[in-house]
Amino acid sequence: MQRKLKIVTPWFTAAAAAGLMVSLASAQPPAAAVTPQVLINAAGNGDEWLTYGHDYAETHFSPLNQINNKNVKRLSLAWSVPTEAPQGTVEATPLMHNGVLYGILPWDVMFAVDARTGQTKWRWDPDVPRAHIQGLCCGPVNRGVALYNGRVYAGLLDGRVVALDQETGKLLWSTQDTVPGGDTILTSAVRVVKGKVIVGSSGAEQAVRGYFSAYDAETGKRTWRFYTVPGDPSKPSEHPELEAAAKTWTGEWWKWGGGGTVWDAMAYDPAADLLYIGTGNGGPWNQNIRSPKGGDNLYLASILAVKPDTGRMVWYFQENPGETWDFTATQPFILADLKIDGRDRKVLMHAPKNGYFYVLDRITGEFLSGKPFVRRMTWSKGLDKNGRPIEAAGARYTTNSIKIWPGAAGAHNWQPMSYSPLTKLVYLPGNEASTTYVPTPADQFQFTPGRPSTGVAFGGAGPIPETDIAATQPEVTGRFLVAWDPVQQKERWRHLFEPGAPGGGTLATAGGLVFMGNSAYDAETGEKLWEEPQLGDRPVNWISYMLDGKQYFAILARSSPNNRLFTFTLDGGATMPPVPPPAAAPARGRGAAGPAN
Ligand code: CA
Repeated sequence: MQRKLKIVTPWFTAAAAAGLMVSLASAQPPAAAVTPQVLINAAGNGDEWLTYGHDYAETHFSPLNQINNKNVKRLSLAWSVPTEAPQGTVEATPLMHNGVLYGILPWDVMFAVDARTGQTKWRWDPDVPRAHIQGLCCGPVNRGVALYNGRVYAGLLDGRVVALDQETGKLLWSTQDTVPGGDTILTSAVRVVKGKVIVGSSGAEQAVRGYFSAYDAETGKRTWRFYTVPGDPSKPSEHPELEAAAKTWTGEWWKWGGGGTVWDAMAYDPAADLLYIGTGNGGPWNQNIRSPKGGDNLYLASILAVKPDTGRMVWYFQENPGETWDFTATQPFILADLKIDGRDRKVLMHAPKNGYFYVLDRITGEFLSGKPFVRRMTWSKGLDKNGRPIEAAGARYTTNSIKIWPGAAGAHNWQPMSYSPLTKLVYLPGNEASTTYVPTPADQFQFTPGRPSTGVAFGGAGPIPETDIAATQPEVTGRFLVAWDPVQQKERWRHLFEPGAPGGGTLATAGGLVFMGNSAYDAETGEKLWEEPQLGDRPVNWISYMLDGKQYFAILARSSPNNRLFTFTLDGGATMPPVPPPAAAPARGRGAAGPAN
């Protein structure tokens, strides 16, 4: 019964070339421990879901095809359990290893449940102090844990990085990453690369200074830290990359921090030994306050490639020089090998908030192509040959208000996209929306510790001007799912959803399926093949795995406190628990496409 395709991925070819290839053929039993080699080989392991994006290339692709576009109509509930999530927004992707599902809930409550029965194996509440964090942007979320060498790792809202025993949930070590009580929080899914836990910071709406760090997975001792923006120019730079960055800033940004937090995107290429990181918006958002004489403000809104052993940068690519719209480059990216203009290219694909789909050479950082994946983009008229945006006149709101598409919620946010090496398409969950930016005059800007301080107000009365290119573009609003051809840089198919439709990330499978929200689609045609409306209003991110010869799909869904962990299989036969009425008090924090950290 168990059928698996042998998928040729960058890691198969890279591992084979490096002489590292171990048997990845079918019927390989699940590994007892998640070792460095197990993580490098994760792309070929359909039995388990060991890291946030399934593999280091962050494909969110399952090589399983037992459930496929021919039989998915028989997909039904195997079991579900209430997670008893504390009040807040669930954004995490669960992991599966050795018959156990691992996850993290609002306020960083971590759990392990038996994947056969849904029975709780352990649960750990870190007792994150509520009062201070409730005042910060953007809700008590966490996007995921990491598994490595018998441990479960997470970064917590109060700045702790923790390692728990994978079997018992017992705390093994805890290291403070942030200044205690400060406005930097940790919400990103952590990853483990070469025995180091990679942790990105969050909190740029509070205008904090962004960074990411590496901790020894065994001891919790910090190995290195990379600051994404320069500090006080009267003090020495913490590392050499900041000397070049400092030349691109003006004013007194360091008094607040500057932004550039690292709250989501990471990927790793073991053959190139490069760790890729996406950096966030400026802090305060309004560049006229942050860096009043302009400048590119490196390394905001950028993709950085660093060496995981040292944190030294090899290349960078900045998507929004002088970022001022909350256009983060933190949206999840994907590594793939593509044939472009007859050449085999190792690429990094990225669809950030600003609405462009970028394809870069991930070895050199060279810009290969970029095209809008939204229908309405009014801040930019295109990208130049180096990938630098050509901004529309008036898009920078230095003195007057302006309405911009896509706005601060982003054309794409935290919801992961997926890539199928079979269809060679990227399945991108996006959003068409706008924001009206009302600038705070620099002399009226008030920085308030413990609160978002952006230098921008929203909305505004009366007619709101748009840039001169807005009139040429269609009025489109709402969440969408697009199948994007990254070589041709054009869409293959697209679904535009009704306002309020459930969102979430996407999962692609070798069974020719794409899952998003409450539905599954044919990966080639986009035809909807399966739907479970009873999943409710907030499905998060699907995973798939094999257990006892049967393929399963699992997802955390529904708003807390009604959040549940659902698992589905062919002819599962269990009855979906009815969707409870909405909670009386709406969950605090951003919605599915809110501004994020
Ligand atoms: Ca932000």
